[in-house]
Parts: sequence; C-alpha cells; structure tokens
Amino acid sequence: MAVLNRVLRLRAASSFSVRSFRSSSFLNSETDLKASSSVIAQNSLPLQRDVKDRNVQWVFLGCPGVGKGTYASRLSTLLGVPHIATGDLVRDELSSSGPFALQLAEVVNQGKLVSDEIIINLLSKRLEASAAKGETGFILDGFPRTIRQAEILEGVTDIDLVVNLKLREEALLAKCLGRRICSECGGNYNVACIDIKGEDGKPGMYMAPLLPPPHCASKLITRSDDTEEVVKERLRIYNDKSQPVEGFYCSRGKLLEFDLPGGIPESWPKLLQALNLEDHEDKQSAAA
Ligand SMILES: [Zn+2]
Repeated sequence: MAVLNRVLRLRAASSFSVRSFRSSSFLNSETDLKASSSVIAQNSLPLQRDVKDRNVQWVFLGCPGVGKGTYASRLSTLLGVPHIATGDLVRDELSSSGPFALQLAEVVNQGKLVSDEIIINLLSKRLEASAAKGETGFILDGFPRTIRQAEILEGVTDIDLVVNLKLREEALLAKCLGRRICSECGGNYNVACIDIKGEDGKPGMYMAPLLPPPHCASKLITRSDDTEEVVKERLRIYNDKSQPVEGFYCSRGKLLEFDLPGGIPESWPKLLQALNLEDHEDKQSAAA
C-alpha cells in the first residue's frame, strides 16, 4: 500500500510538471492523457520552478475538519488566484438577488441538497466573473463531491491538480471534538491539544490548541453535532463519497495525496514542498 501511495504521489507530481508546460487548453481526450503519460515515461521533466507559468486550476479535497479551507485560502493568497469555496458561492447567491437566489432559498429551507446543476451554474458564473476581472486560475474547495460533479466540471474547465489533504483519524476526531464557538462573538476556537507519541515507526504528531482570548473563554459552546458518534458518521459518509472522486482524478494522474504531518506550522512548509512552491514563498517574503 505504501509503495502504491508513493507511485501515485510520483505520478501526480510528474503529471503536474507536465501539465504545467501545457497551454490552458482542455485536456479531455484519452489521446491527450496517453500522450502526457508517455511524456512522463520518456523523460522525467524537472518540476517547473516558476509558478507564474503554471496553471493553477486546482481542486482541494479533504474530509470535514481537516483544514482544507485554511490551506486552500493560504495558497490562493500566495499564488494570487481566487479561492472558490462552493459553500461561499451558495451563501453569496442566497444573500443576492441573483437568478438562483429564490430557487436556492427554497431548496435550503426545505433542508434539501443543492443540486449539481445549481452548483455548476454558480461556479461557471464565478469563473466567468474571474475571467472578466483578468484573474487567472483558481483553487476549488468543496467541489466536486461526486463523480458526476467531477465529470460535469471536466466539461466546464480544465483541472490541473487535485490535492487530497489527509489527517490521521485519531487526530481528526480529536480536532473535531475540540471545536468551540464563542456564543457572543462567533469566534472559532479549538481546545484540543493533540499530542500523539510516535511508535512502531509511525511519527508522532503534535497540534497545538487554538485557545480563545480571556473575554471569550467563559462563553464557549460546542456545536450540537460535534459529538463523537456524529463526527464518526460524518467521516464515514465523507469517505464513502469521496473515494470514487479520488479514484476519478487518480486515474487521470492528477491526484496528489498529502498526509498532514501536524498543525499549520508543521504542515504548511511541507505542503509547499510537495507542491514545489517553497521557493515561491521565499521570494515573496524577500519582496515583502
Ligand atoms: Zn467571543
């Protein structure tokens, strides 16, 4: 399994470099995919260093609580591309007088799931708005969730890389159960201090808590659905649904599996390394 993961990782990394040399034209046909895999086999291209010439049309996958939004948002700032979270698209549309606002309100009020069609429409609209503003690239967060959505997305735009963020289940569970919200200001905190000792060759893991300031400390509440049973069920449902999507992108050589080694301080530099972006941040901090 470890070997397989490494191969997949390598494949994702190689196709990433190959894709970065390609134009932003659609990569839909199998011939294109075959062509790019044979390029990988023939000459393993060095990873391109200059992110300016790279297509950042990325998707972030990861189960609830993994911190997907945080990493996607940080990377979008670093790379100067929009971070498009489908949850935000839905919220924005609801609070607007846009064409789907009424339809959405009805769906949401009835507690139903927003249809693929609505989501893809909102997404297309958002991508068009980006293009009109001269923005290039994007990091998608929260989409696609199903193979069908992935297929629709493939028809709408070209995805260059799919980053699958993973966290050890015990850490994930502790993190979800440690979530607290300030009942007064709505601030989000986490009281879990995760300190897993390394054993049997497995590295340890430390994640510091995100403690509230004193004025919030006495007003913390736990979301009613953050119980162990509900969190475990949420993870199980997520895993069932996401595996086919991961397989979809894996078969296209676009999936980069990334095991978060800990909290943001440990994970962020490693993630940049995996994406071959560590120089980019050096340049940016030097310029700042
Ligand atoms: Zn507060």
